[in-house]
Amino acid sequence: MKWIPTIIRTVFLALFLYLTLTGNMMLWLALFAVSLIIAIFFGRLYCGYVCPMNTIMIPIEWISKKLKIQTQSVPKWLEKGVLPWAFLGISIVVMLLTKKMLHINLPILLIWVLISILVTLRYRPFIFHNLICPFGALQKLFGGFAVFSKKVDETTCIGCRKCEKVCPSISINVNSDNKKAVISTNICHQCTNCADVCPVSAINYVKRK
Ligand code: SF4
Ligand code: SF4
Repeated sequence: MKWIPTIIRTVFLALFLYLTLTGNMMLWLALFAVSLIIAIFFGRLYCGYVCPMNTIMIPIEWISKKLKIQTQSVPKWLEKGVLPWAFLGISIVVMLLTKKMLHINLPILLIWVLISILVTLRYRPFIFHNLICPFGALQKLFGGFAVFSKKVDETTCIGCRKCEKVCPSISINVNSDNKKAVISTNICHQCTNCADVCPVSAINYVKRK
């Protein structure tokens, strides 16, 4: 069953390319708006399974590691965390201006896909997901309320840290005091990476208290 997320992501990537190339990008943006409502109940499913940037970043990260050009460092100027909101504002303004003055629908999402590729060639995926992506900023806001989310069963977790190594958004961390993993729901993509590698099946998708 590990290939099911890959199939879902590929189908949505194909839909994204089709809508963008046929000039229907607004339909994708409508889908994104719906995903924010879904995030309130089911978490950031858009980020984990629908987002074209995330889907493309997965093989790009693999290439980056193979070429040994990925760095573990985090650019200082990104750490403040305000850039995603600034990029969101800039993207909206640029889209509206190009529509009004040039009468074209700027393929803003395609531009962000290109940026995500360039960033991921050099930096770990969480840099783009958590510190750059303007769409991620909105998903983080709405996803923080998620009624259902991935959660670690503390009684089962053995603190092996395997989950930390595969999380694209570094949203799962083992507490150094009690050696139990904890997930930050607002930045969790609800993917299956951590649950797939957990040796004791401590991670499940459940209703939060
Ligand atoms: S915590 Fe698990 S489900 Fe959430 S993004 Fe990380 S790997 Fe995916
Ligand atoms: S992989 Fe499983 S057992 Fe290991 S730290 Fe993560 S949640 Fe705990």
